[in-house]
Amino acid sequence: MTIWNLGSINADHFYHVPHIPAPGETLACSSLRTGLGGKGANMSVAAARAGAHVAHIGAVGPEGGWARDRLMEYGVDTRHIAQVAQPTGHAIIAVADGDGENTILLFGGANHAIDEAMVGAALSSASTGDTFLFQNETSAQGYAAETAAKLGLRVAYAAAPFDAAAARAALPFLDFLILNEIEAEQLGAAVGKPVSEMGVTDVIVTLGGAGCDWYHRGEKQSFSAVPVTPVDTTGAGDTFTGYVLAGLDRGMSMAQGISLAMRAAALKVTRAGTADVIPDLAEVEAFAS
Ligand code: ADP
Repeated sequence: MTIWNLGSINADHFYHVPHIPAPGETLACSSLRTGLGGKGANMSVAAARAGAHVAHIGAVGPEGGWARDRLMEYGVDTRHIAQVAQPTGHAIIAVADGDGENTILLFGGANHAIDEAMVGAALSSASTGDTFLFQNETSAQGYAAETAAKLGLRVAYAAAPFDAAAARAALPFLDFLILNEIEAEQLGAAVGKPVSEMGVTDVIVTLGGAGCDWYHRGEKQSFSAVPVTPVDTTGAGDTFTGYVLAGLDRGMSMAQGISLAMRAAALKVTRAGTADVIPDLAEVEAFAS
């Protein structure tokens, strides 16, 4: 089966600075590191490293061929990643030496040039039993969710970064909703009821180092995280989502998929970075087993 992921592809530029710049301040950076990022790309890499066939639906700019190549190296099917005129999406991340505090400027760029025709063309190759995943960092999500639901795909939504209007529009088409505790509170406040009562069959609320809660038709089951000493928690949720969907795609039960995803996310948290350091299945199976 295939996991179709309509998702963002970004260049993450990490600038190391002595402190977070104040308004009007000019500050020299001690170093610059650039890596592959974007929630969409992270989730595609996680699911591919978990052994799934992942077809990424997305867009990069004229200078973004490297990002597509990197995804291909990580085992993602990149045939449905278009090259468009807008610049590749990117994040400018200032990281303060010492306490690691950060500020982020996010530019959507090519991620917002994805149109319905591109999504429709990709999903015309989808089959019943496939999974469709999306987040809130691209255009064309509403059309894509509705089309995927009509095709009978399992529709999964990682509701991040939080967007009340997008989440409300997506709800009628979802089989599976994954979000962190803060996003669950925000969505609950926007819709006026808890996420477990929004009519989505399976909902997972991730709780960082405290694990996650899974609601199946509103019935709750809690899972503890794998204890680790965290080094960098960015991308934990993306790793979790990619792995849990890959587990389900392989025929695991939800509880088995969650347990695999917890191990993968905990291992990621021990490493600095995002897409480039998401562990593969062999590493996850060898970890904490
Ligand atoms: P997000 O990255 O979307 O904010 P969370 O922080 O809730 O998501 O983390 C997602 C999952 O990653 C958690 O459910 C847990 O399994 C794992 N995880 C995150 N932080 C830790 C941690 N400090 N120790 C162990 N596992 C963690």
